[in-house]
Amino acid sequence: MYVLPDLPYSEDALAPFVSADTLRTHHGKHHKTYVDKTNELAAKAGLADRPLEDVVRQASRTGDKTLFNNAAQAWNHAFFWRSMRAPGGPQPNGELTRAIAESFDGLEGLKEAFVKEGVGHFASGWVWIVMTSDGLQVISTHDADDTLVREGLFPLLVCDLWEHAYYLDYKNDRKAFLERWFDNVANWDFAAAQLSASTGEGEGFRYPASE
Ligand code: FE
Repeated sequence: MYVLPDLPYSEDALAPFVSADTLRTHHGKHHKTYVDKTNELAAKAGLADRPLEDVVRQASRTGDKTLFNNAAQAWNHAFFWRSMRAPGGPQPNGELTRAIAESFDGLEGLKEAFVKEGVGHFASGWVWIVMTSDGLQVISTHDADDTLVREGLFPLLVCDLWEHAYYLDYKNDRKAFLERWFDNVANWDFAAAQLSASTGEGEGFRYPASE
């Protein structure tokens, strides 16, 4: 059984940038539903004993769209919770700062690219900061699609572009959500750990082990 991972902070920790109301519904209802569905469908597909990463890749290979959508959404949301931390936390430093400077000329440049990609993304999906062989890039994926099934990408951070991520707090103003998210709750320590893992230092994020 895949578990619904606990939030790595309290429900009100990200307010006012992400409200407790949003977080409670997003984690307790939306994410939980994806995990429940994955448990049901992975069992039927005979994959329930495999790490969630394998399930996502296997469902993509075999074209099992329903399993892929639910398993990838379960994974993406777990990665998204880790991509945030309470306001006032550390800014990028060290190797991450160097990578940002090299590819985006600094944090403002990265923010501009991130907000532009997220605002320009049509309908639901995810906006990612990823490491590639050409340095850092900002990309977006549609619906449940994620970086696990793309070659040559290592995800550092993700933000949810589905309306359920921001509608209660920002109504239809996705731009304001992305700007405030980037400035206040983006988890740069997590991004730095992922960046190290992309070069083989330490373990990258993995979905919590099944029960
Ligand atoms: Fe979501």
